[in-house]
Amino acid sequence: MNGSKTKGDFMTTTSITLQDIHQAQDSIQEHVRHTPLAPSQSLGDLTGTSVFLKLETMQDIGAFKIRGAMNRLLNLTDDERARGVVAISTGNHGRGVAAAAKKLGVRAIICMGSLVPENKIAGIKALGAEVRIIGNSQDDAEVEARRLIDEEGMVEVHPFDDVHVAAGQGTIGLELLQDLPDVRTVIIPVSGGGLAGGIAMALKSVSPGIRVVGVSMERGPAMIESLQAGKPVPVEEVATLADSLGGGIGLDNKLTFDLCRDYLDETILVSEAQIAAAMAHLFLEERLVVEGGGSVGVAALLNGLVGDLEGPVAVIVSGRNVDTRKLHDIVAAELEARANG
Ligand SMILES: *Cc1c(COP(=O)(O)O)cnc(C)c1O
Repeated sequence: MNGSKTKGDFMTTTSITLQDIHQAQDSIQEHVRHTPLAPSQSLGDLTGTSVFLKLETMQDIGAFKIRGAMNRLLNLTDDERARGVVAISTGNHGRGVAAAAKKLGVRAIICMGSLVPENKIAGIKALGAEVRIIGNSQDDAEVEARRLIDEEGMVEVHPFDDVHVAAGQGTIGLELLQDLPDVRTVIIPVSGGGLAGGIAMALKSVSPGIRVVGVSMERGPAMIESLQAGKPVPVEEVATLADSLGGGIGLDNKLTFDLCRDYLDETILVSEAQIAAAMAHLFLEERLVVEGGGSVGVAALLNGLVGDLEGPVAVIVSGRNVDTRKLHDIVAAELEARANG
């Protein structure tokens, strides 16, 4: 499937193939985990069909983004490797790029604004990357990243809209097919769409009958609003428990919009209360620590939002990097509600 776009005077084609995803798997498998696919008794009982959780929380950085970042860095030329890489991120993308760069001995600078909490900065520094704090916002961080790219020749690692990144995330689809060949329904969190687009592309290429469902939060679902508009649209960024799903898809999106449009069967939105309930459920019933963005698939299942559910079902549980106090408060509120209910 090709997404062809005219850009200026020339034609650029941006797409990925199943072969790209197989290649990514060959390249990254010595560096990232083949994560467990754990049966969920609680969700099985609730839905009346078998449900499995794909635990990307078990990656070393606590989220799947190491897959795409590692594949991107492994595809640098020797010259690019020598110049180093830049990412703009306060979250899991920054952690993924930092960890991949450290493993491969590549210089990495992660740019972020000064309002980023100290623990996040420390987390990325601990993974071995340089952190550059500029101005107060993502926009300021972007200006500095641009400068490093334009003036110092460093290489940008995009969080999703990149063939090597999306192919890296797509390797989760190959692991699912290997571990659960008869999977019928796959539920995936969606932000920029590298994760959902890459996985859906892999699944549908091998087995077009698998139903692939994307889930975002109601508060700022950039990809879902873009799919509904038929083109990338801007969204206002608002606070949400699913902070790792925030941000736009890029008005000049060249890859992941097409992937999500072509390969996702449907999309679902979940509320803040539903996300909180899913985080509490995962902690209390499954003994799993999962961040808001990683919980949206379970939120969709818990609330019966996937109609005519057919199993076996696999839910991508994409990350665990949640502030401990935030998770504590959510679980405490749930226990309180149960005690009073
Ligand atoms: C980045 C991220 C996502 C979304 O991935 P996209 O490729 O941007 O759609 C989902 N969950 C977690 C935990 C993430 O860090």
